[in-house]
Amino acid sequence: MKDLEKKLLKQNKNCWEQWNENTKKNAFSFAEKYKLFLNSAKTEREVVKESIKIAETNGFVNIKKIKSLRPGSKVYAINRERSLFLARLGRDKLQNGVNLIMSHIDSPRLDFKVSPLYEDENIAFFKTHYYGGIKKYQWPTIALALHGTIYLKNGKKCDIVIGEDDDDPIFMITDLLPHLDREGGPGTKIRGRDVKGEDLNLVVASMPIKDKKIKERVKLFVLNYLYEKYGIKEEDLSSADLEAVPSEKARDLGFDRSMISAYGHDDRICAYASLKALFDAKQFTKTQICILIDREEIGSDGNTSAKSIFLEIFISDLLKLSGKKGSLDEVYRVFSSSHGISADVTAAVDPDYKDVHDLRNACRLGYGLAIEKYTGSGGKYFTSEASGRFLAKLKSIFSSNKNIIYQISGGLGKVDQGGGGTIAKYMANRNIEMVDAGVALLNMHAPLEIASKADLYSAYLAYKEFFIKA
Ligand code: MN
Ligand code: MN
Repeated sequence: MKDLEKKLLKQNKNCWEQWNENTKKNAFSFAEKYKLFLNSAKTEREVVKESIKIAETNGFVNIKKIKSLRPGSKVYAINRERSLFLARLGRDKLQNGVNLIMSHIDSPRLDFKVSPLYEDENIAFFKTHYYGGIKKYQWPTIALALHGTIYLKNGKKCDIVIGEDDDDPIFMITDLLPHLDREGGPGTKIRGRDVKGEDLNLVVASMPIKDKKIKERVKLFVLNYLYEKYGIKEEDLSSADLEAVPSEKARDLGFDRSMISAYGHDDRICAYASLKALFDAKQFTKTQICILIDREEIGSDGNTSAKSIFLEIFISDLLKLSGKKGSLDEVYRVFSSSHGISADVTAAVDPDYKDVHDLRNACRLGYGLAIEKYTGSGGKYFTSEASGRFLAKLKSIFSSNKNIIYQISGGLGKVDQGGGGTIAKYMANRNIEMVDAGVALLNMHAPLEIASKADLYSAYLAYKEFFIKA
């Protein structure tokens, strides 16, 4: 009977139990480099910059500097500093399709309003508008850092990062003390979680400048500081892309250090795993493309999003540099023969909140790459669905390396519980064969999210195999 069980029942495998000591060691050292990447790149622009740096050390060259491509050529293209497209040319011609992995590099955060600065009760604040799906009550009382760029009328730009170095100041959103935050006086329930969008204001200063004749002296202190340090006036703040993100660094989590706590695993964990996979996928038949895209968290609208035609332009450029015309017709034919992974995070079962999952069809922390046949919500809306045939092909690819551990689920949470989409559908709409496969997280979309080092390493191994063999 034991044999029959082994032969017929689906085996879900925890990576740590499957791997030998050497593989576990590799997973741990892979995680060390990932943490450095997380700490050096907290916004989509910073991810683009940092990724280019690593890509160049791996021999990738800006496509603008290239006159022609041949098998093995490694190039990258940047779209507006916010998305990055990388390719290693295959031996097989482009018209036979490419192997593409796409992840997003924007994360939920607090963007500054166009007129952010005000003073109230001798405290200066920056007003924000949250970006992406957040639970607002999670953002007050944590240390926040400012990241972004301010553009001046004279064409100059000014990059700002404050709150990342240990001796930098940080910023914070306030919350009401529990003593006063009750529904109806003493003894009643604490309200707490009811934080409004307009309450997400960052405390930035509390010291007035000396001249007592002027009003709003704390606000003026801030403006004077910004002018002295960066040459910025109040009106310049309206032509800026400024965001507040958690200032906490990526750290090991747990006695066993098997997990990582960090801001923005969603989706830099898949971005990093797919980048490293591309660099290391050195045997190649098909052209391999790794895409780091922006604007996923707000529905993939905009010129740096997955819906942007920059992908068509990039494929057209690859065709032209390979001696083809690069017409839209040729681009569409490349899409139609291509295979893609939408590499994005999903929810791991949280033992404290099991009831939102169908436990027979859910992903678990430490059980390897999380493949999802479909995402979306309520009656399979807002998703593309991977075909059974494509999933079987993936299983066969992944089974060639015994260290690739994966789990397959369908949908985020129980039917009609909620759900969420990824960029897979925008690629599938281009007639590319797509599947969702990423890393399952705890605390997804919280200021600090939790990922397993095992799942990160599984994703890397699986993506590498996909690049080589799909
Ligand atoms: Mn995501
Ligand atoms: Mn997300």
